[in-house]
Amino acid sequence: MSLSDNPIEEIKVAKEILKNCGLYKKSPTLVSCPTCGRTQIDLIPIAKEVEEFLQTIESDIKVAVMGCAVNGPGEAREADVGIAGGIEEGLLFKKGEIIKKVPQKEIVEVLKKEILEMIGD
Ligand code: SF4
Repeated sequence: MSLSDNPIEEIKVAKEILKNCGLYKKSPTLVSCPTCGRTQIDLIPIAKEVEEFLQTIESDIKVAVMGCAVNGPGEAREADVGIAGGIEEGLLFKKGEIIKKVPQKEIVEVLKKEILEMIGD
């Protein structure tokens, strides 16, 4: 495989392909929404930080970072840990259940903590 990008990107893509084929299981999945007019939190930086954090983790945990309370909860509920954005806050889901509201500034930290707890680190 040759992408005109750096080797790290190539490894990520290769891992993704193996994962999709069911050959590489121990790597997290991040579902994040593309954002739209309904987005209520500053989603992109949150999703990026969570994505970087997940790259340090060897687990097949599924994490969702969604921008609104309209369509976000569906995906957030499906994930092991998820957040659905509200106005300057997010609704935290764990294994399909609503846990609590989290202020926007604390979302990344709370997600990291929940992820580490869930994978038993
Ligand atoms: S989850 Fe909400 S904010 Fe994200 S794309 Fe869907 S409707 Fe828009």
